[in-house]
Parts: sequence; structure tokens; C-alpha cells
Amino acid sequence: MDLHEKASSSKPGGTTRPVQVGSVSIGGGPFHVIAGPCAVESPGLLLETARAVRDSGASLLRGGIFKLRTDPSSFQGMGRAGLEELKAMKGELGLPLVTEVTDPRHLEAMLEVVDMLQVGSRNMFNYPLLSEVGKTGRPVLLKRGFSARVEEWLLAAEYIRKEGNENIVLCERGIRTFETATRNTLDLASVAWIKAREPYPVLVDPSHGTGLRELVPPMALAAAAAGADGLLVEVHPRPGEALSDGRQSLDPAEFARLMDRLSALLAALGRSPLGKS
Ligand code: PEP
Ligand code: MN
Repeated sequence: MDLHEKASSSKPGGTTRPVQVGSVSIGGGPFHVIAGPCAVESPGLLLETARAVRDSGASLLRGGIFKLRTDPSSFQGMGRAGLEELKAMKGELGLPLVTEVTDPRHLEAMLEVVDMLQVGSRNMFNYPLLSEVGKTGRPVLLKRGFSARVEEWLLAAEYIRKEGNENIVLCERGIRTFETATRNTLDLASVAWIKAREPYPVLVDPSHGTGLRELVPPMALAAAAAGADGLLVEVHPRPGEALSDGRQSLDPAEFARLMDRLSALLAALGRSPLGKS
């Protein structure tokens, strides 16, 4: 059955299968927000950000260690050294940890530290990586490829599931279109489409989806209204100094304001409140 047949034959109202990440159940009712810096620039920065986002109600912490950057001369992340430092400070962070895996050779070391493995937009089509991530059984945050149709995104999830790992959370992060006013075009219709037909929890990343800090709160609220199970938001204590994606990062005060507005919106929508870790 192709996607269009499936679209017309499926009954609206897919039942979401929650994914447990440490103490957090994504898709299990409460709305969960994953927050953190684009890149772990130092362990101190991660700890400072972790405290700020936790105090505002984020339930998972995310920071990139291996960064896939379009420009090879830009900051590529702390790499393996960052992973060792994270291992040492894991107890202090206080939130389940999400980071992106870019290479199957890093998986063994990552599994000692990371509660959820992110597969980024550039790797959504990397089928050997998807299979290896599937074999680990660890929860996966599968971002949409920026040139992927929904059907291709769901088939990428299938590569993970085929290895026996059903702990998959999808993340809409915007796609490349003719529009250049925003970094990507955030496709919120894909969220409502998937939620109506598929069992995967779906998160939205308004940070990469827009590339512009001032658009993150409105698109985050729109994502909640569209039925997303949660968000992925980039937060940096001093966005102006960030080594990557500062223009789209909220500072802790902006993040706290967004979380207050989200709480009010979830209540108005009759949805479960923000989840806790
Ligand atoms: C990220 O999450 O920091 C990232 C690089 O995102 P994406 O893979 O969606 O570009
Ligand atoms: Mn980023």
C-alpha cells in the first residue's frame, strides 16, 4: 500500500505508543521538552544550561558532541573527549541525556552515557547507521531529513524497527523549500498527519525549523496546538557567544517565558501538562 492509499484508508486517530527514556515517558500523555545547547562547548556550559532548563520544566537535556557542520572549517564538537567528560559528570546533570550519533564506531562508548540517541537530519538516509542504532535497543530520536518526504522518514524508522528496536520518537525539524526567509520550512502538517496514523510519538524542533530565535516561541506553541508530543529547543546561556546555532538559541529567560506560555496553552487545549523528569 502506498502512502496515499494509506492516507485515505487509515482512520484518523492513531494510537501513540509511548517511548520510555530514563524516567520520562514520551508520548505517554504529558508534553515533554528536550532542551540544551546545540553543542557541548565545555562540561561547565552543559551543567549551567542543564540547571536553567530543568528549573523551567524541561525533562530531558540535549547537547551535541559530534556535530555535522555544513562548513568543514566550523566547530565540529568536542568529540570523544566530550563523551568522557559527560560520563564523569552524568550524575550531576539530573536529566536524561540525548546526543546525536554520527558514526557507528562511537556507539559503544555512547551507550555508557546517553539515554537517547539522536539521528540527525543529515543521517536520516544513512541506512547502515539506522540499523546499528536499531541493534542497540536504546531509544532513538529520529529527525526528519531536510529533503525527506514523510514516507521516506517513516521508512527510515522502519530500518530501526526491523532490528527489533521500537523505541522510536520522530522529530520534525523543517524541510528545504524555495522559501529562504527562514532556515527551513517547518512542516507542522506532517505532525498532525503522522499523529493521526502512526504509533510514533512526534516532537517538533522549532529551532532548526526556523533558524530564528524570535520565531521559536510562536512555532513551539503552534506545534503543541498541532498535537506534537513535545519539543526540542536549543538553549544557550549566552547565545551571542555560542559556537554553533546561536541565532536560533533562546537564552534561559526566554526559555522560561516560553515554558510558562506552553503550560497555559496546554491547559487551554485540554491537554496533559508539561512532563517532569
Ligand atoms: C541538531 O539537532 O543540533 C542538528 C544538527 O539538527 P539537524 O540534524 O536537524 O540539522
Ligand atoms: Mn543545532
